[in-house]
This record gives sequence, C-alpha cells and structure tokens, in this order.
Amino acid sequence: MLAGRTVQVKQRDDLYGEYEEYGQWLSDKGTILLQRSLAALPISADRLEENFWHEAVHGILEAAGYATLSEDEKLVSLVAGFVHQLLKTARFEDV
Ligand SMILES: [Zn+2]
Repeated sequence: MLAGRTVQVKQRDDLYGEYEEYGQWLSDKGTILLQRSLAALPISADRLEENFWHEAVHGILEAAGYATLSEDEKLVSLVAGFVHQLLKTARFEDV
C-alpha cells in the first residue's frame, strides 16, 4: 500500500532482456516490476531487495508530489540504498 493505493509487485523473467532494466515503477498501474533471478541472470536476494526499493522510491516521490525528483536516478538509488541498509540493519530493542 502506498498513499492509500495497493501496489502490486510482479517478477518477470524477461524484463532485463526487453528493457535492460532490473525493475520498473509503473505509475499508472501502481505496479513494481522486478527482473526475477534466473540461472542465466542470477540476482542475489540483496540485489532484488535493492531493486524493489529503487522502484518503491520512484513511487514514493511521485505519490508525495515530487515527480520531478523521481526522474533523478542517482537520488532515487541513494535513497533506496539507505532505506534498504536501514531495514537490513535495524534492531528493535525493548526498553
Ligand atoms: Zn529508476
């Protein structure tokens, strides 16, 4: 769910072959497409998560009204990398 809208995440075998991209954010459909790991195109679980967050950040920026910032691939990758790292390393402690 993003900004009250259900987001579908779909893995495809042919995304990289067709678009030379590991992921896509389809704004009009509220869908994240990800290249599935294949024997001929291995993608680690970490890389798959990073790809997910990259596309999610595109969606978040657009939902927040910053579509122009969403066009900045370097910014999107930086934020996605930080979010991914935070989630991978966060420890929730009882106090
Ligand atoms: Zn991108």
